[in-house]
Amino acid sequence: MIIEDVVCPFCACLCDDIVVSVNGDGMITEVRNACVLGVRKFMCANRFKKGNAEHRAEKPRLRGEEVEYEDAVREAVEILRCADHPLVYGLSNIGYNAQRIALEIARMKSGIIENSESVCHNLFYQAILRRCGVSGGRLYFATLEQIRDKAHLIIYWGSNPVSGHPRHLSKFSLYPVGLYAMKGVQDRELIVIDAVETPLKKIASIFLRVPCGEDWRVAEIMRKIVSGDFKGLKTLAKGLDFATISTIAERMKSASSGVIFIGLGVLSSAPRNCDDAGCDDALKCVDALLSLVETLNEDGVRFFIFPMKGHFNVVGAVTLLMRETGRPFSVDFHNSDADFTPGAALRSLERGDVDAALIIGADPLSSLPRRFASALLKIQTVVIDAFESITSKFATVFIPSAITGVEAEDIAYRMDGLPLKLKKIVECPLPLKSDAEILRDIRDNLRRLHEINP
Ligand code: SF4
Repeated sequence: MIIEDVVCPFCACLCDDIVVSVNGDGMITEVRNACVLGVRKFMCANRFKKGNAEHRAEKPRLRGEEVEYEDAVREAVEILRCADHPLVYGLSNIGYNAQRIALEIARMKSGIIENSESVCHNLFYQAILRRCGVSGGRLYFATLEQIRDKAHLIIYWGSNPVSGHPRHLSKFSLYPVGLYAMKGVQDRELIVIDAVETPLKKIASIFLRVPCGEDWRVAEIMRKIVSGDFKGLKTLAKGLDFATISTIAERMKSASSGVIFIGLGVLSSAPRNCDDAGCDDALKCVDALLSLVETLNEDGVRFFIFPMKGHFNVVGAVTLLMRETGRPFSVDFHNSDADFTPGAALRSLERGDVDAALIIGADPLSSLPRRFASALLKIQTVVIDAFESITSKFATVFIPSAITGVEAEDIAYRMDGLPLKLKKIVECPLPLKSDAEILRDIRDNLRRLHEINP
């Protein structure tokens, strides 16, 4: 059987032209159009069938011992029922329906809900929210199709799509034919700005290396050149490659339309330890970039700024929280006035204000700074994931799930906010439920207990 128009559930590009071949035994035999990362994700569905459980668990575990699903859910419910202030963490690698149920659980328990965006592109939202009051909330954002059709000058700043989003260049930015770029790559120019050399340097017309933490100075110099304000420029440019910076600024000024794809390289170019001082430094970088794009637009050059989202449904998590709570992350239902600056929920965890955690679609023990990971190890955790991880290994309760977008359907939001349906391609060979079904079981049992003992 050949299934067409499948959406790849690996990164936030959510490529929707994948073709998957499935044989008579329900095994995926071929994946076409996907990059190597996408192919690997689809092929993970086959791991059980060959008896290779390298990355996937076959049964739920309670304190390391395999148990039946019902026992695992009962213990997960008990942990959450007894918790006064639980943390619901992760969300970026699960479908939108599952995210909605996770939010219901956090709300029901008056807990904190936090998505992994809080330690990734958090400062982009902070800067936008801060500027909304100043510049009337202009976002200079566009869909990927609009960018493909209009942008002639493509700038990757602190982001390397070759490793994180391999088809971004061919589908949305440099290579595809667009309405106003009929010759594809021949009608576009690529500029790369980064702290390190990446494979993109080979195909870029200009590569600018920026010392760590100096992106804001580069953006500010460019803004001044674009606006014709040359006062204090030499001092500001001290130690930087001024000739290349001014060449790029001139290219921006003369472009008919362009885009800056900003990545974690910009957002983590300043010290960013989730403390206020680190955040302020990194915020300055994002703010300077937003000012540059604003100045270009005021000058008549249509320019967009676009954060390169990583996980396949991180945008769904942010969209849901914004829609339901008005905040992109760190929502504390126990205290509506609580701090929601980046990392606020993690600081609560570190202070010991959190007494249990429900972790879905994330591996915080391998991705969070050590002090937060250590705090997580001190409390009981319920982990739901299709794959084994360090966090699943240390979980009090671990419930393996079907792979969303391969063995279970749901909805995910592309990096530009477009919702797409994730298909179920094959049956999960083991009786594993989807993330949404597991969360629903936990929610329903919790709700029943709350009704009996409010
Ligand atoms: Fe999948 Fe991302 Fe590769 Fe597209 S670029 S095929 S969404 S991993």
